Amino acid sequence: MGKKIAETPMMKQYVEIKTQHPDAILLFRVGDFYETFSDDAVVASEILGITLTRRANGTAQFVELAGFPHHALDTYLPKLVRAGKRVAICDQLEDPKMTKKLVKRGITELVTPGVSINDNILNHKENNFLCAMHMEKGNRFGTAFLDISTGEFLTAEGTVDDIDKLLSNFAPKEILIERGNKKKFEEAFGSQWFLFELDDWIFTESSARDRLLSHFQTKNLKGFGIEQLTQGIIASGAILHYLDITQHKHIGHITSLLRIEEERFVRLDRFTIRNLELINPLNEGGKSLLNVLDKTISPMGSRLLRRWAVFPLKEAKPIEDRLEVVELFFRKPELRILLEQQLSLIGDLERIISKAATGRVNPREVAQLRVALTAIEPIREAFLSSENQSIVEMGEKLDPCLAIRDRIEKEIVPDPPTLLHKGGYIRKGVDKELDELRQIAYSGKDYLMQIQQRESERTGIPSLKVAFNNVFGYYIEVRNTHKDKVPADWIRKQTLVNAERYITAELKEYEEKILGAEEKIISLENRIYSSLVESLLEYIPAIQTNANIIARADCLLSFANAAQENKYIRPEINDSEIIDIKSGRHPVIEKQLPAGEPFIANDLYLDSETQQIIIITGPNMAGKSALLRQIALITLMAQIGSFVPADSAKIGLVDKIFTRVGASDNISLGESTFMVEMNEAANILNNLSDRSLVLFDELGRGTSTYDGISIAWAIVEYIHENPKARAKTLFATHYHELNEMEKSFKRIKNYNVAVKEIDNKVIFLRKLMPGGSEHSFGIHVAKMAGVPQSITNRADAILAQMESSNRKEMIKKPIQDFVEKREGYQLSFFQLDDPILSQVRDEIINLDINNLTPIEALNKLNEIKKIV
Ligand code: ADP
Repeated sequence: MGKKIAETPMMKQYVEIKTQHPDAILLFRVGDFYETFSDDAVVASEILGITLTRRANGTAQFVELAGFPHHALDTYLPKLVRAGKRVAICDQLEDPKMTKKLVKRGITELVTPGVSINDNILNHKENNFLCAMHMEKGNRFGTAFLDISTGEFLTAEGTVDDIDKLLSNFAPKEILIERGNKKKFEEAFGSQWFLFELDDWIFTESSARDRLLSHFQTKNLKGFGIEQLTQGIIASGAILHYLDITQHKHIGHITSLLRIEEERFVRLDRFTIRNLELINPLNEGGKSLLNVLDKTISPMGSRLLRRWAVFPLKEAKPIEDRLEVVELFFRKPELRILLEQQLSLIGDLERIISKAATGRVNPREVAQLRVALTAIEPIREAFLSSENQSIVEMGEKLDPCLAIRDRIEKEIVPDPPTLLHKGGYIRKGVDKELDELRQIAYSGKDYLMQIQQRESERTGIPSLKVAFNNVFGYYIEVRNTHKDKVPADWIRKQTLVNAERYITAELKEYEEKILGAEEKIISLENRIYSSLVESLLEYIPAIQTNANIIARADCLLSFANAAQENKYIRPEINDSEIIDIKSGRHPVIEKQLPAGEPFIANDLYLDSETQQIIIITGPNMAGKSALLRQIALITLMAQIGSFVPADSAKIGLVDKIFTRVGASDNISLGESTFMVEMNEAANILNNLSDRSLVLFDELGRGTSTYDGISIAWAIVEYIHENPKARAKTLFATHYHELNEMEKSFKRIKNYNVAVKEIDNKVIFLRKLMPGGSEHSFGIHVAKMAGVPQSITNRADAILAQMESSNRKEMIKKPIQDFVEKREGYQLSFFQLDDPILSQVRDEIINLDINNLTPIEALNKLNEIKKIV
């Protein structure tokens, strides 16, 4: 804190509390205000736009001060947290009226970006994950994710790549790491994360295990299937530890710890998620796949859909289960309408039950819980009477929790307030004492009115008024003109400019009764409410299951609605290695074309025998990228259980989708584009299988033409000749020189996106046609974009010159020579019959380049040299 501010007793108390969480902004409750002091005040005033003042603090000392009224906490707290601050809330732990000494104060909550259950901080369409990362020796990491607002708790172990992918999928708002590991973390995952360091003893197996066992009240972790997942356990334990530090002690809604079974999902790296614009569009104002598919109604549904979009499934059965339900919703409009109506009533069931567990649920939310449980009943009935097994199973898991629903109905008024401290939420008839007290409170007020009338008549003072203030309670007010008529037994309390205020014995008697009754009413209502909330806890598992099923139904309904709106069809999923799409469309672009411009559908066929690699050439803006992405998106949509934009789609299940888009936005990270591109290409090439789908869009653009073509060539060749995997590959390029490859590699096929030249102008036909293209069309595009004619004419001339001399010689000739030589001398490593060279080939293919140190690489090279 730097400054000496502990002069007064209260400031001493402040400093003591502040040192518990020096890195958090401390909101210090003083009377009706939350105050911040010193450096905190400077930061808070900046973020919140509240006034920064200075206050004398003992002898000739000043301390900065900024505060806001306590009831504005919900407005200001989210602003601090969203600004990336951790905030400690320090409350008064006793009624200041009851003590003459310094009020006891203590931290009641530590709100951090990753641990929040405040509606104003959370986005109902997104999870808010806290992550913990355990990084020990080797390159196997353990991680855990918790959304305290929903109770979801997940763990996984894996390599840097695996974990990186999870980080991008779960997008945690805060990551816990061991003290001193920041650099290591940022080297592995980048510096865009909000990190918090914890002591290293927290990241130990025994401490973590103990925490998990005591939280889940189990003897071991076998039931969660994570017994062997030591690193994951350590990370999960760190999360629970953090909840303790942040004063989240009531966490009964965290009912299980799930292992993220990555092997069950299609592998997508973060570049692919971004390039395919699954969740967020690349350009502002654009649309993502999620935007097109998300027609969910409940918050649980939209959160789940977000998850599904980045975790496509790899096995046919669960995909078919989803497709079956989508189809049924699609075919049955009445079921769809019923679901839509009921879903719209359910609200955020999942977060409400979490709030109940943490003891922060308000009466309006409890009433909402009743509405939700009531809405579940017709859904359950409709599902149970379905002919479809998957739907029946969903119906069986729904539980309207009748007992607790009826209890809420019986005890809580239909439209209760959100605030607890004023009462008014418990129904009449729940508690006899409460009803009697209310009777007294109300009739007491009536009685006061009667006193007013009676006394007015008795004294002949027409304007006499009975009123109330906090200083001396109920009083009678008499205007000065009638002062002389005041009876002797009234006691004067206050003189105003033109009136006087009196109290009477009778008034005081009733006042006591009424005020006593009001206080008692509030504490009784509170007690009844607490007991209701407590009995909710028993229903946490059932209500969480309801929330999950509702989320699932909502997502599948969303797919059915998107299918209806966009004319999608049900894809055929199979175990073949063939992708066969007829009249496929790009789900996002087709929705964004200017009116009147039709989307041109295209067929596409890929397999591992005849057409494994497609090289798509065509001028800029022809539609190559769109086509590439369209194939990936259709495949991915099919594997999340959605219908797809095509006339027919047969999808042999894909296990990985890799994309690489040349020269994009990595420059900002300071690496040269080309290096990034090559790193990624290496990553892709090392991880292929027969079921992988690879998209290369303009690979090699970040370098000179010659280099670019060579590298692109080498990569395509590698993929074709890789004996371990025949990954299906789409390669879009403006290097039409690559068309030469078709001649030498039997599973490579050339296609082009057709354009027509009329009157020296290019018309984009957007049709994918067999065959390569002859030259580039960049200048035509420039013309279309409105580049001045003098420039484009000159460019035409230069191009003509280059094409006749340089370019052909520089590029085409060597390639042709290469191809010829290759045919003649069998230069490719991958097709060699020579036993020595094939040994060299095997050595190279078996190298795990990702895990090779430079020294090892040199040694290896030496060994290879010896073989030759
Ligand atoms: P390329 O990768 O060949 O430079 P893009 O794939 O980026 O071209 O496509 C350019 C634009 O053409 C897209 O933004 C889209 O608006 C439009 N487009 C692409 N494919 C189609 C299609 N099949 N039907 C209609 N418009 C399309």
